[in-house]
Amino acid sequence: MINIEKDYPLDRLNTFGMSVKAPWFSVLRQKEDCTVLASAAPESKSLLILGGGSNMLFTRQPDQWVIKNEVKGIELIREDATHVWLSVGAGEVWHEFVLYCISRQYCGIENLALIPGTVGAAPIQNIGAYGVEVKQLIDRVHFWDIENGSFAYLDNEDCRFGYRDSIFKQTLKGKYIITAVEWKLSKTPALNTSYGNIKEELEKMGIENPGIKDVADAVIAIRSAKLPDPKVVGNAGSFFKNPEVDNEIYAAIKANYAEAPGYKAGADKTKIPAAWLIEQCNWKGFRQGDAGVHPKQPLVLVNYGNASGSEIFLLSTQIIESVNKKFGITLEREVQII
Ligand SMILES: Cc1cc2nc3c(=O)[nH]c(=O)nc-3n(C[C@H](O)[C@H](O)[C@H](O)COP(=O)(O)OP(=O)(O)OC[C@H]3O[C@@H](n4cnc5c(N)ncnc54)[C@H](O)[C@@H]3O)c2cc1C
Repeated sequence: MINIEKDYPLDRLNTFGMSVKAPWFSVLRQKEDCTVLASAAPESKSLLILGGGSNMLFTRQPDQWVIKNEVKGIELIREDATHVWLSVGAGEVWHEFVLYCISRQYCGIENLALIPGTVGAAPIQNIGAYGVEVKQLIDRVHFWDIENGSFAYLDNEDCRFGYRDSIFKQTLKGKYIITAVEWKLSKTPALNTSYGNIKEELEKMGIENPGIKDVADAVIAIRSAKLPDPKVVGNAGSFFKNPEVDNEIYAAIKANYAEAPGYKAGADKTKIPAAWLIEQCNWKGFRQGDAGVHPKQPLVLVNYGNASGSEIFLLSTQIIESVNKKFGITLEREVQII
């Protein structure tokens, strides 16, 4: 059953805290309800699917039918001596799913603790943190094909996962509702503690022989200290992707800025932290009205209270222009602009 509400406030349903209203709003609680969407559609047939609203910026009042995905459920579909396969409803809260896996010793997902949002959104931008991306753990993505009016799925290799990217952000954009994601997780820990300062954090915690829960606790401690909590100050995490540039471009930057950080991204490319580029352009801690650049983490744009989506968007444009002028690199927004 699909219930439609009119002029529904979305303030609490997007982590930037933008004060917008959905002209029509429904909650999708079971995947079977996808089959009645076409016949139940109000005036607007175009859909905007909402998970946790933690990767979107509303720059205007939406004119679509907003569907909040709350399809729940975690099912063990298969296991062998080394692995488990889980099917997880798209509306499950990501961090709760991570904790569920940790409590059962399902390994590989622990570095992704505390990322906001839902399980169904995870494949869309191939979420990642601390050296792990979900493309390493996803077996299959199930979705409702809006155009064809049928259920379908894609195996991992057909999802065309890339850095904060997948087929769901490209050719399939706007054409699907993800209903469930199948995960393949290991029964044996293979800890990945080399990224960021996980090792230092574990030492600080006095842990010599860490397990997956310890790694998740370390990640949670680091993230909590570093990133602004959207419940306190509106934000959507990293606003920009880290640019991958030709090695020659990086070498030219390095010639002028010996300290410029860079990480190998294949043979010909270097990934430069966007935060460093933004900081070099003096944006760190910048504030205009209620729109700002976080004082500790310049990759994060923040709403201190009553900034509008277009003010945040304008700030992001100014940042892109100044980084381009100084370094000749065009930053790409990671956040979905509505
Ligand atoms: C403080 C903070 C820290 C963050 N840290 C990280 C990080 O470390 N790594 C990282 O990768 N990301 C990070 N993010 C970004 C965000 O958490 C992820 O992108 C997350 O996957 C978004 O999930 P969501 O459910 O909130 O998606 P939403 O913001 O609701 O939606 C994002 C996009 O996906 C679409 N969508 C959502 N669900 C569905 C569905 N079921 N079917 C079809 N389309 C759908 C929406 O229409 C929209 O286009 C961070 C965000 C915040 C606020």
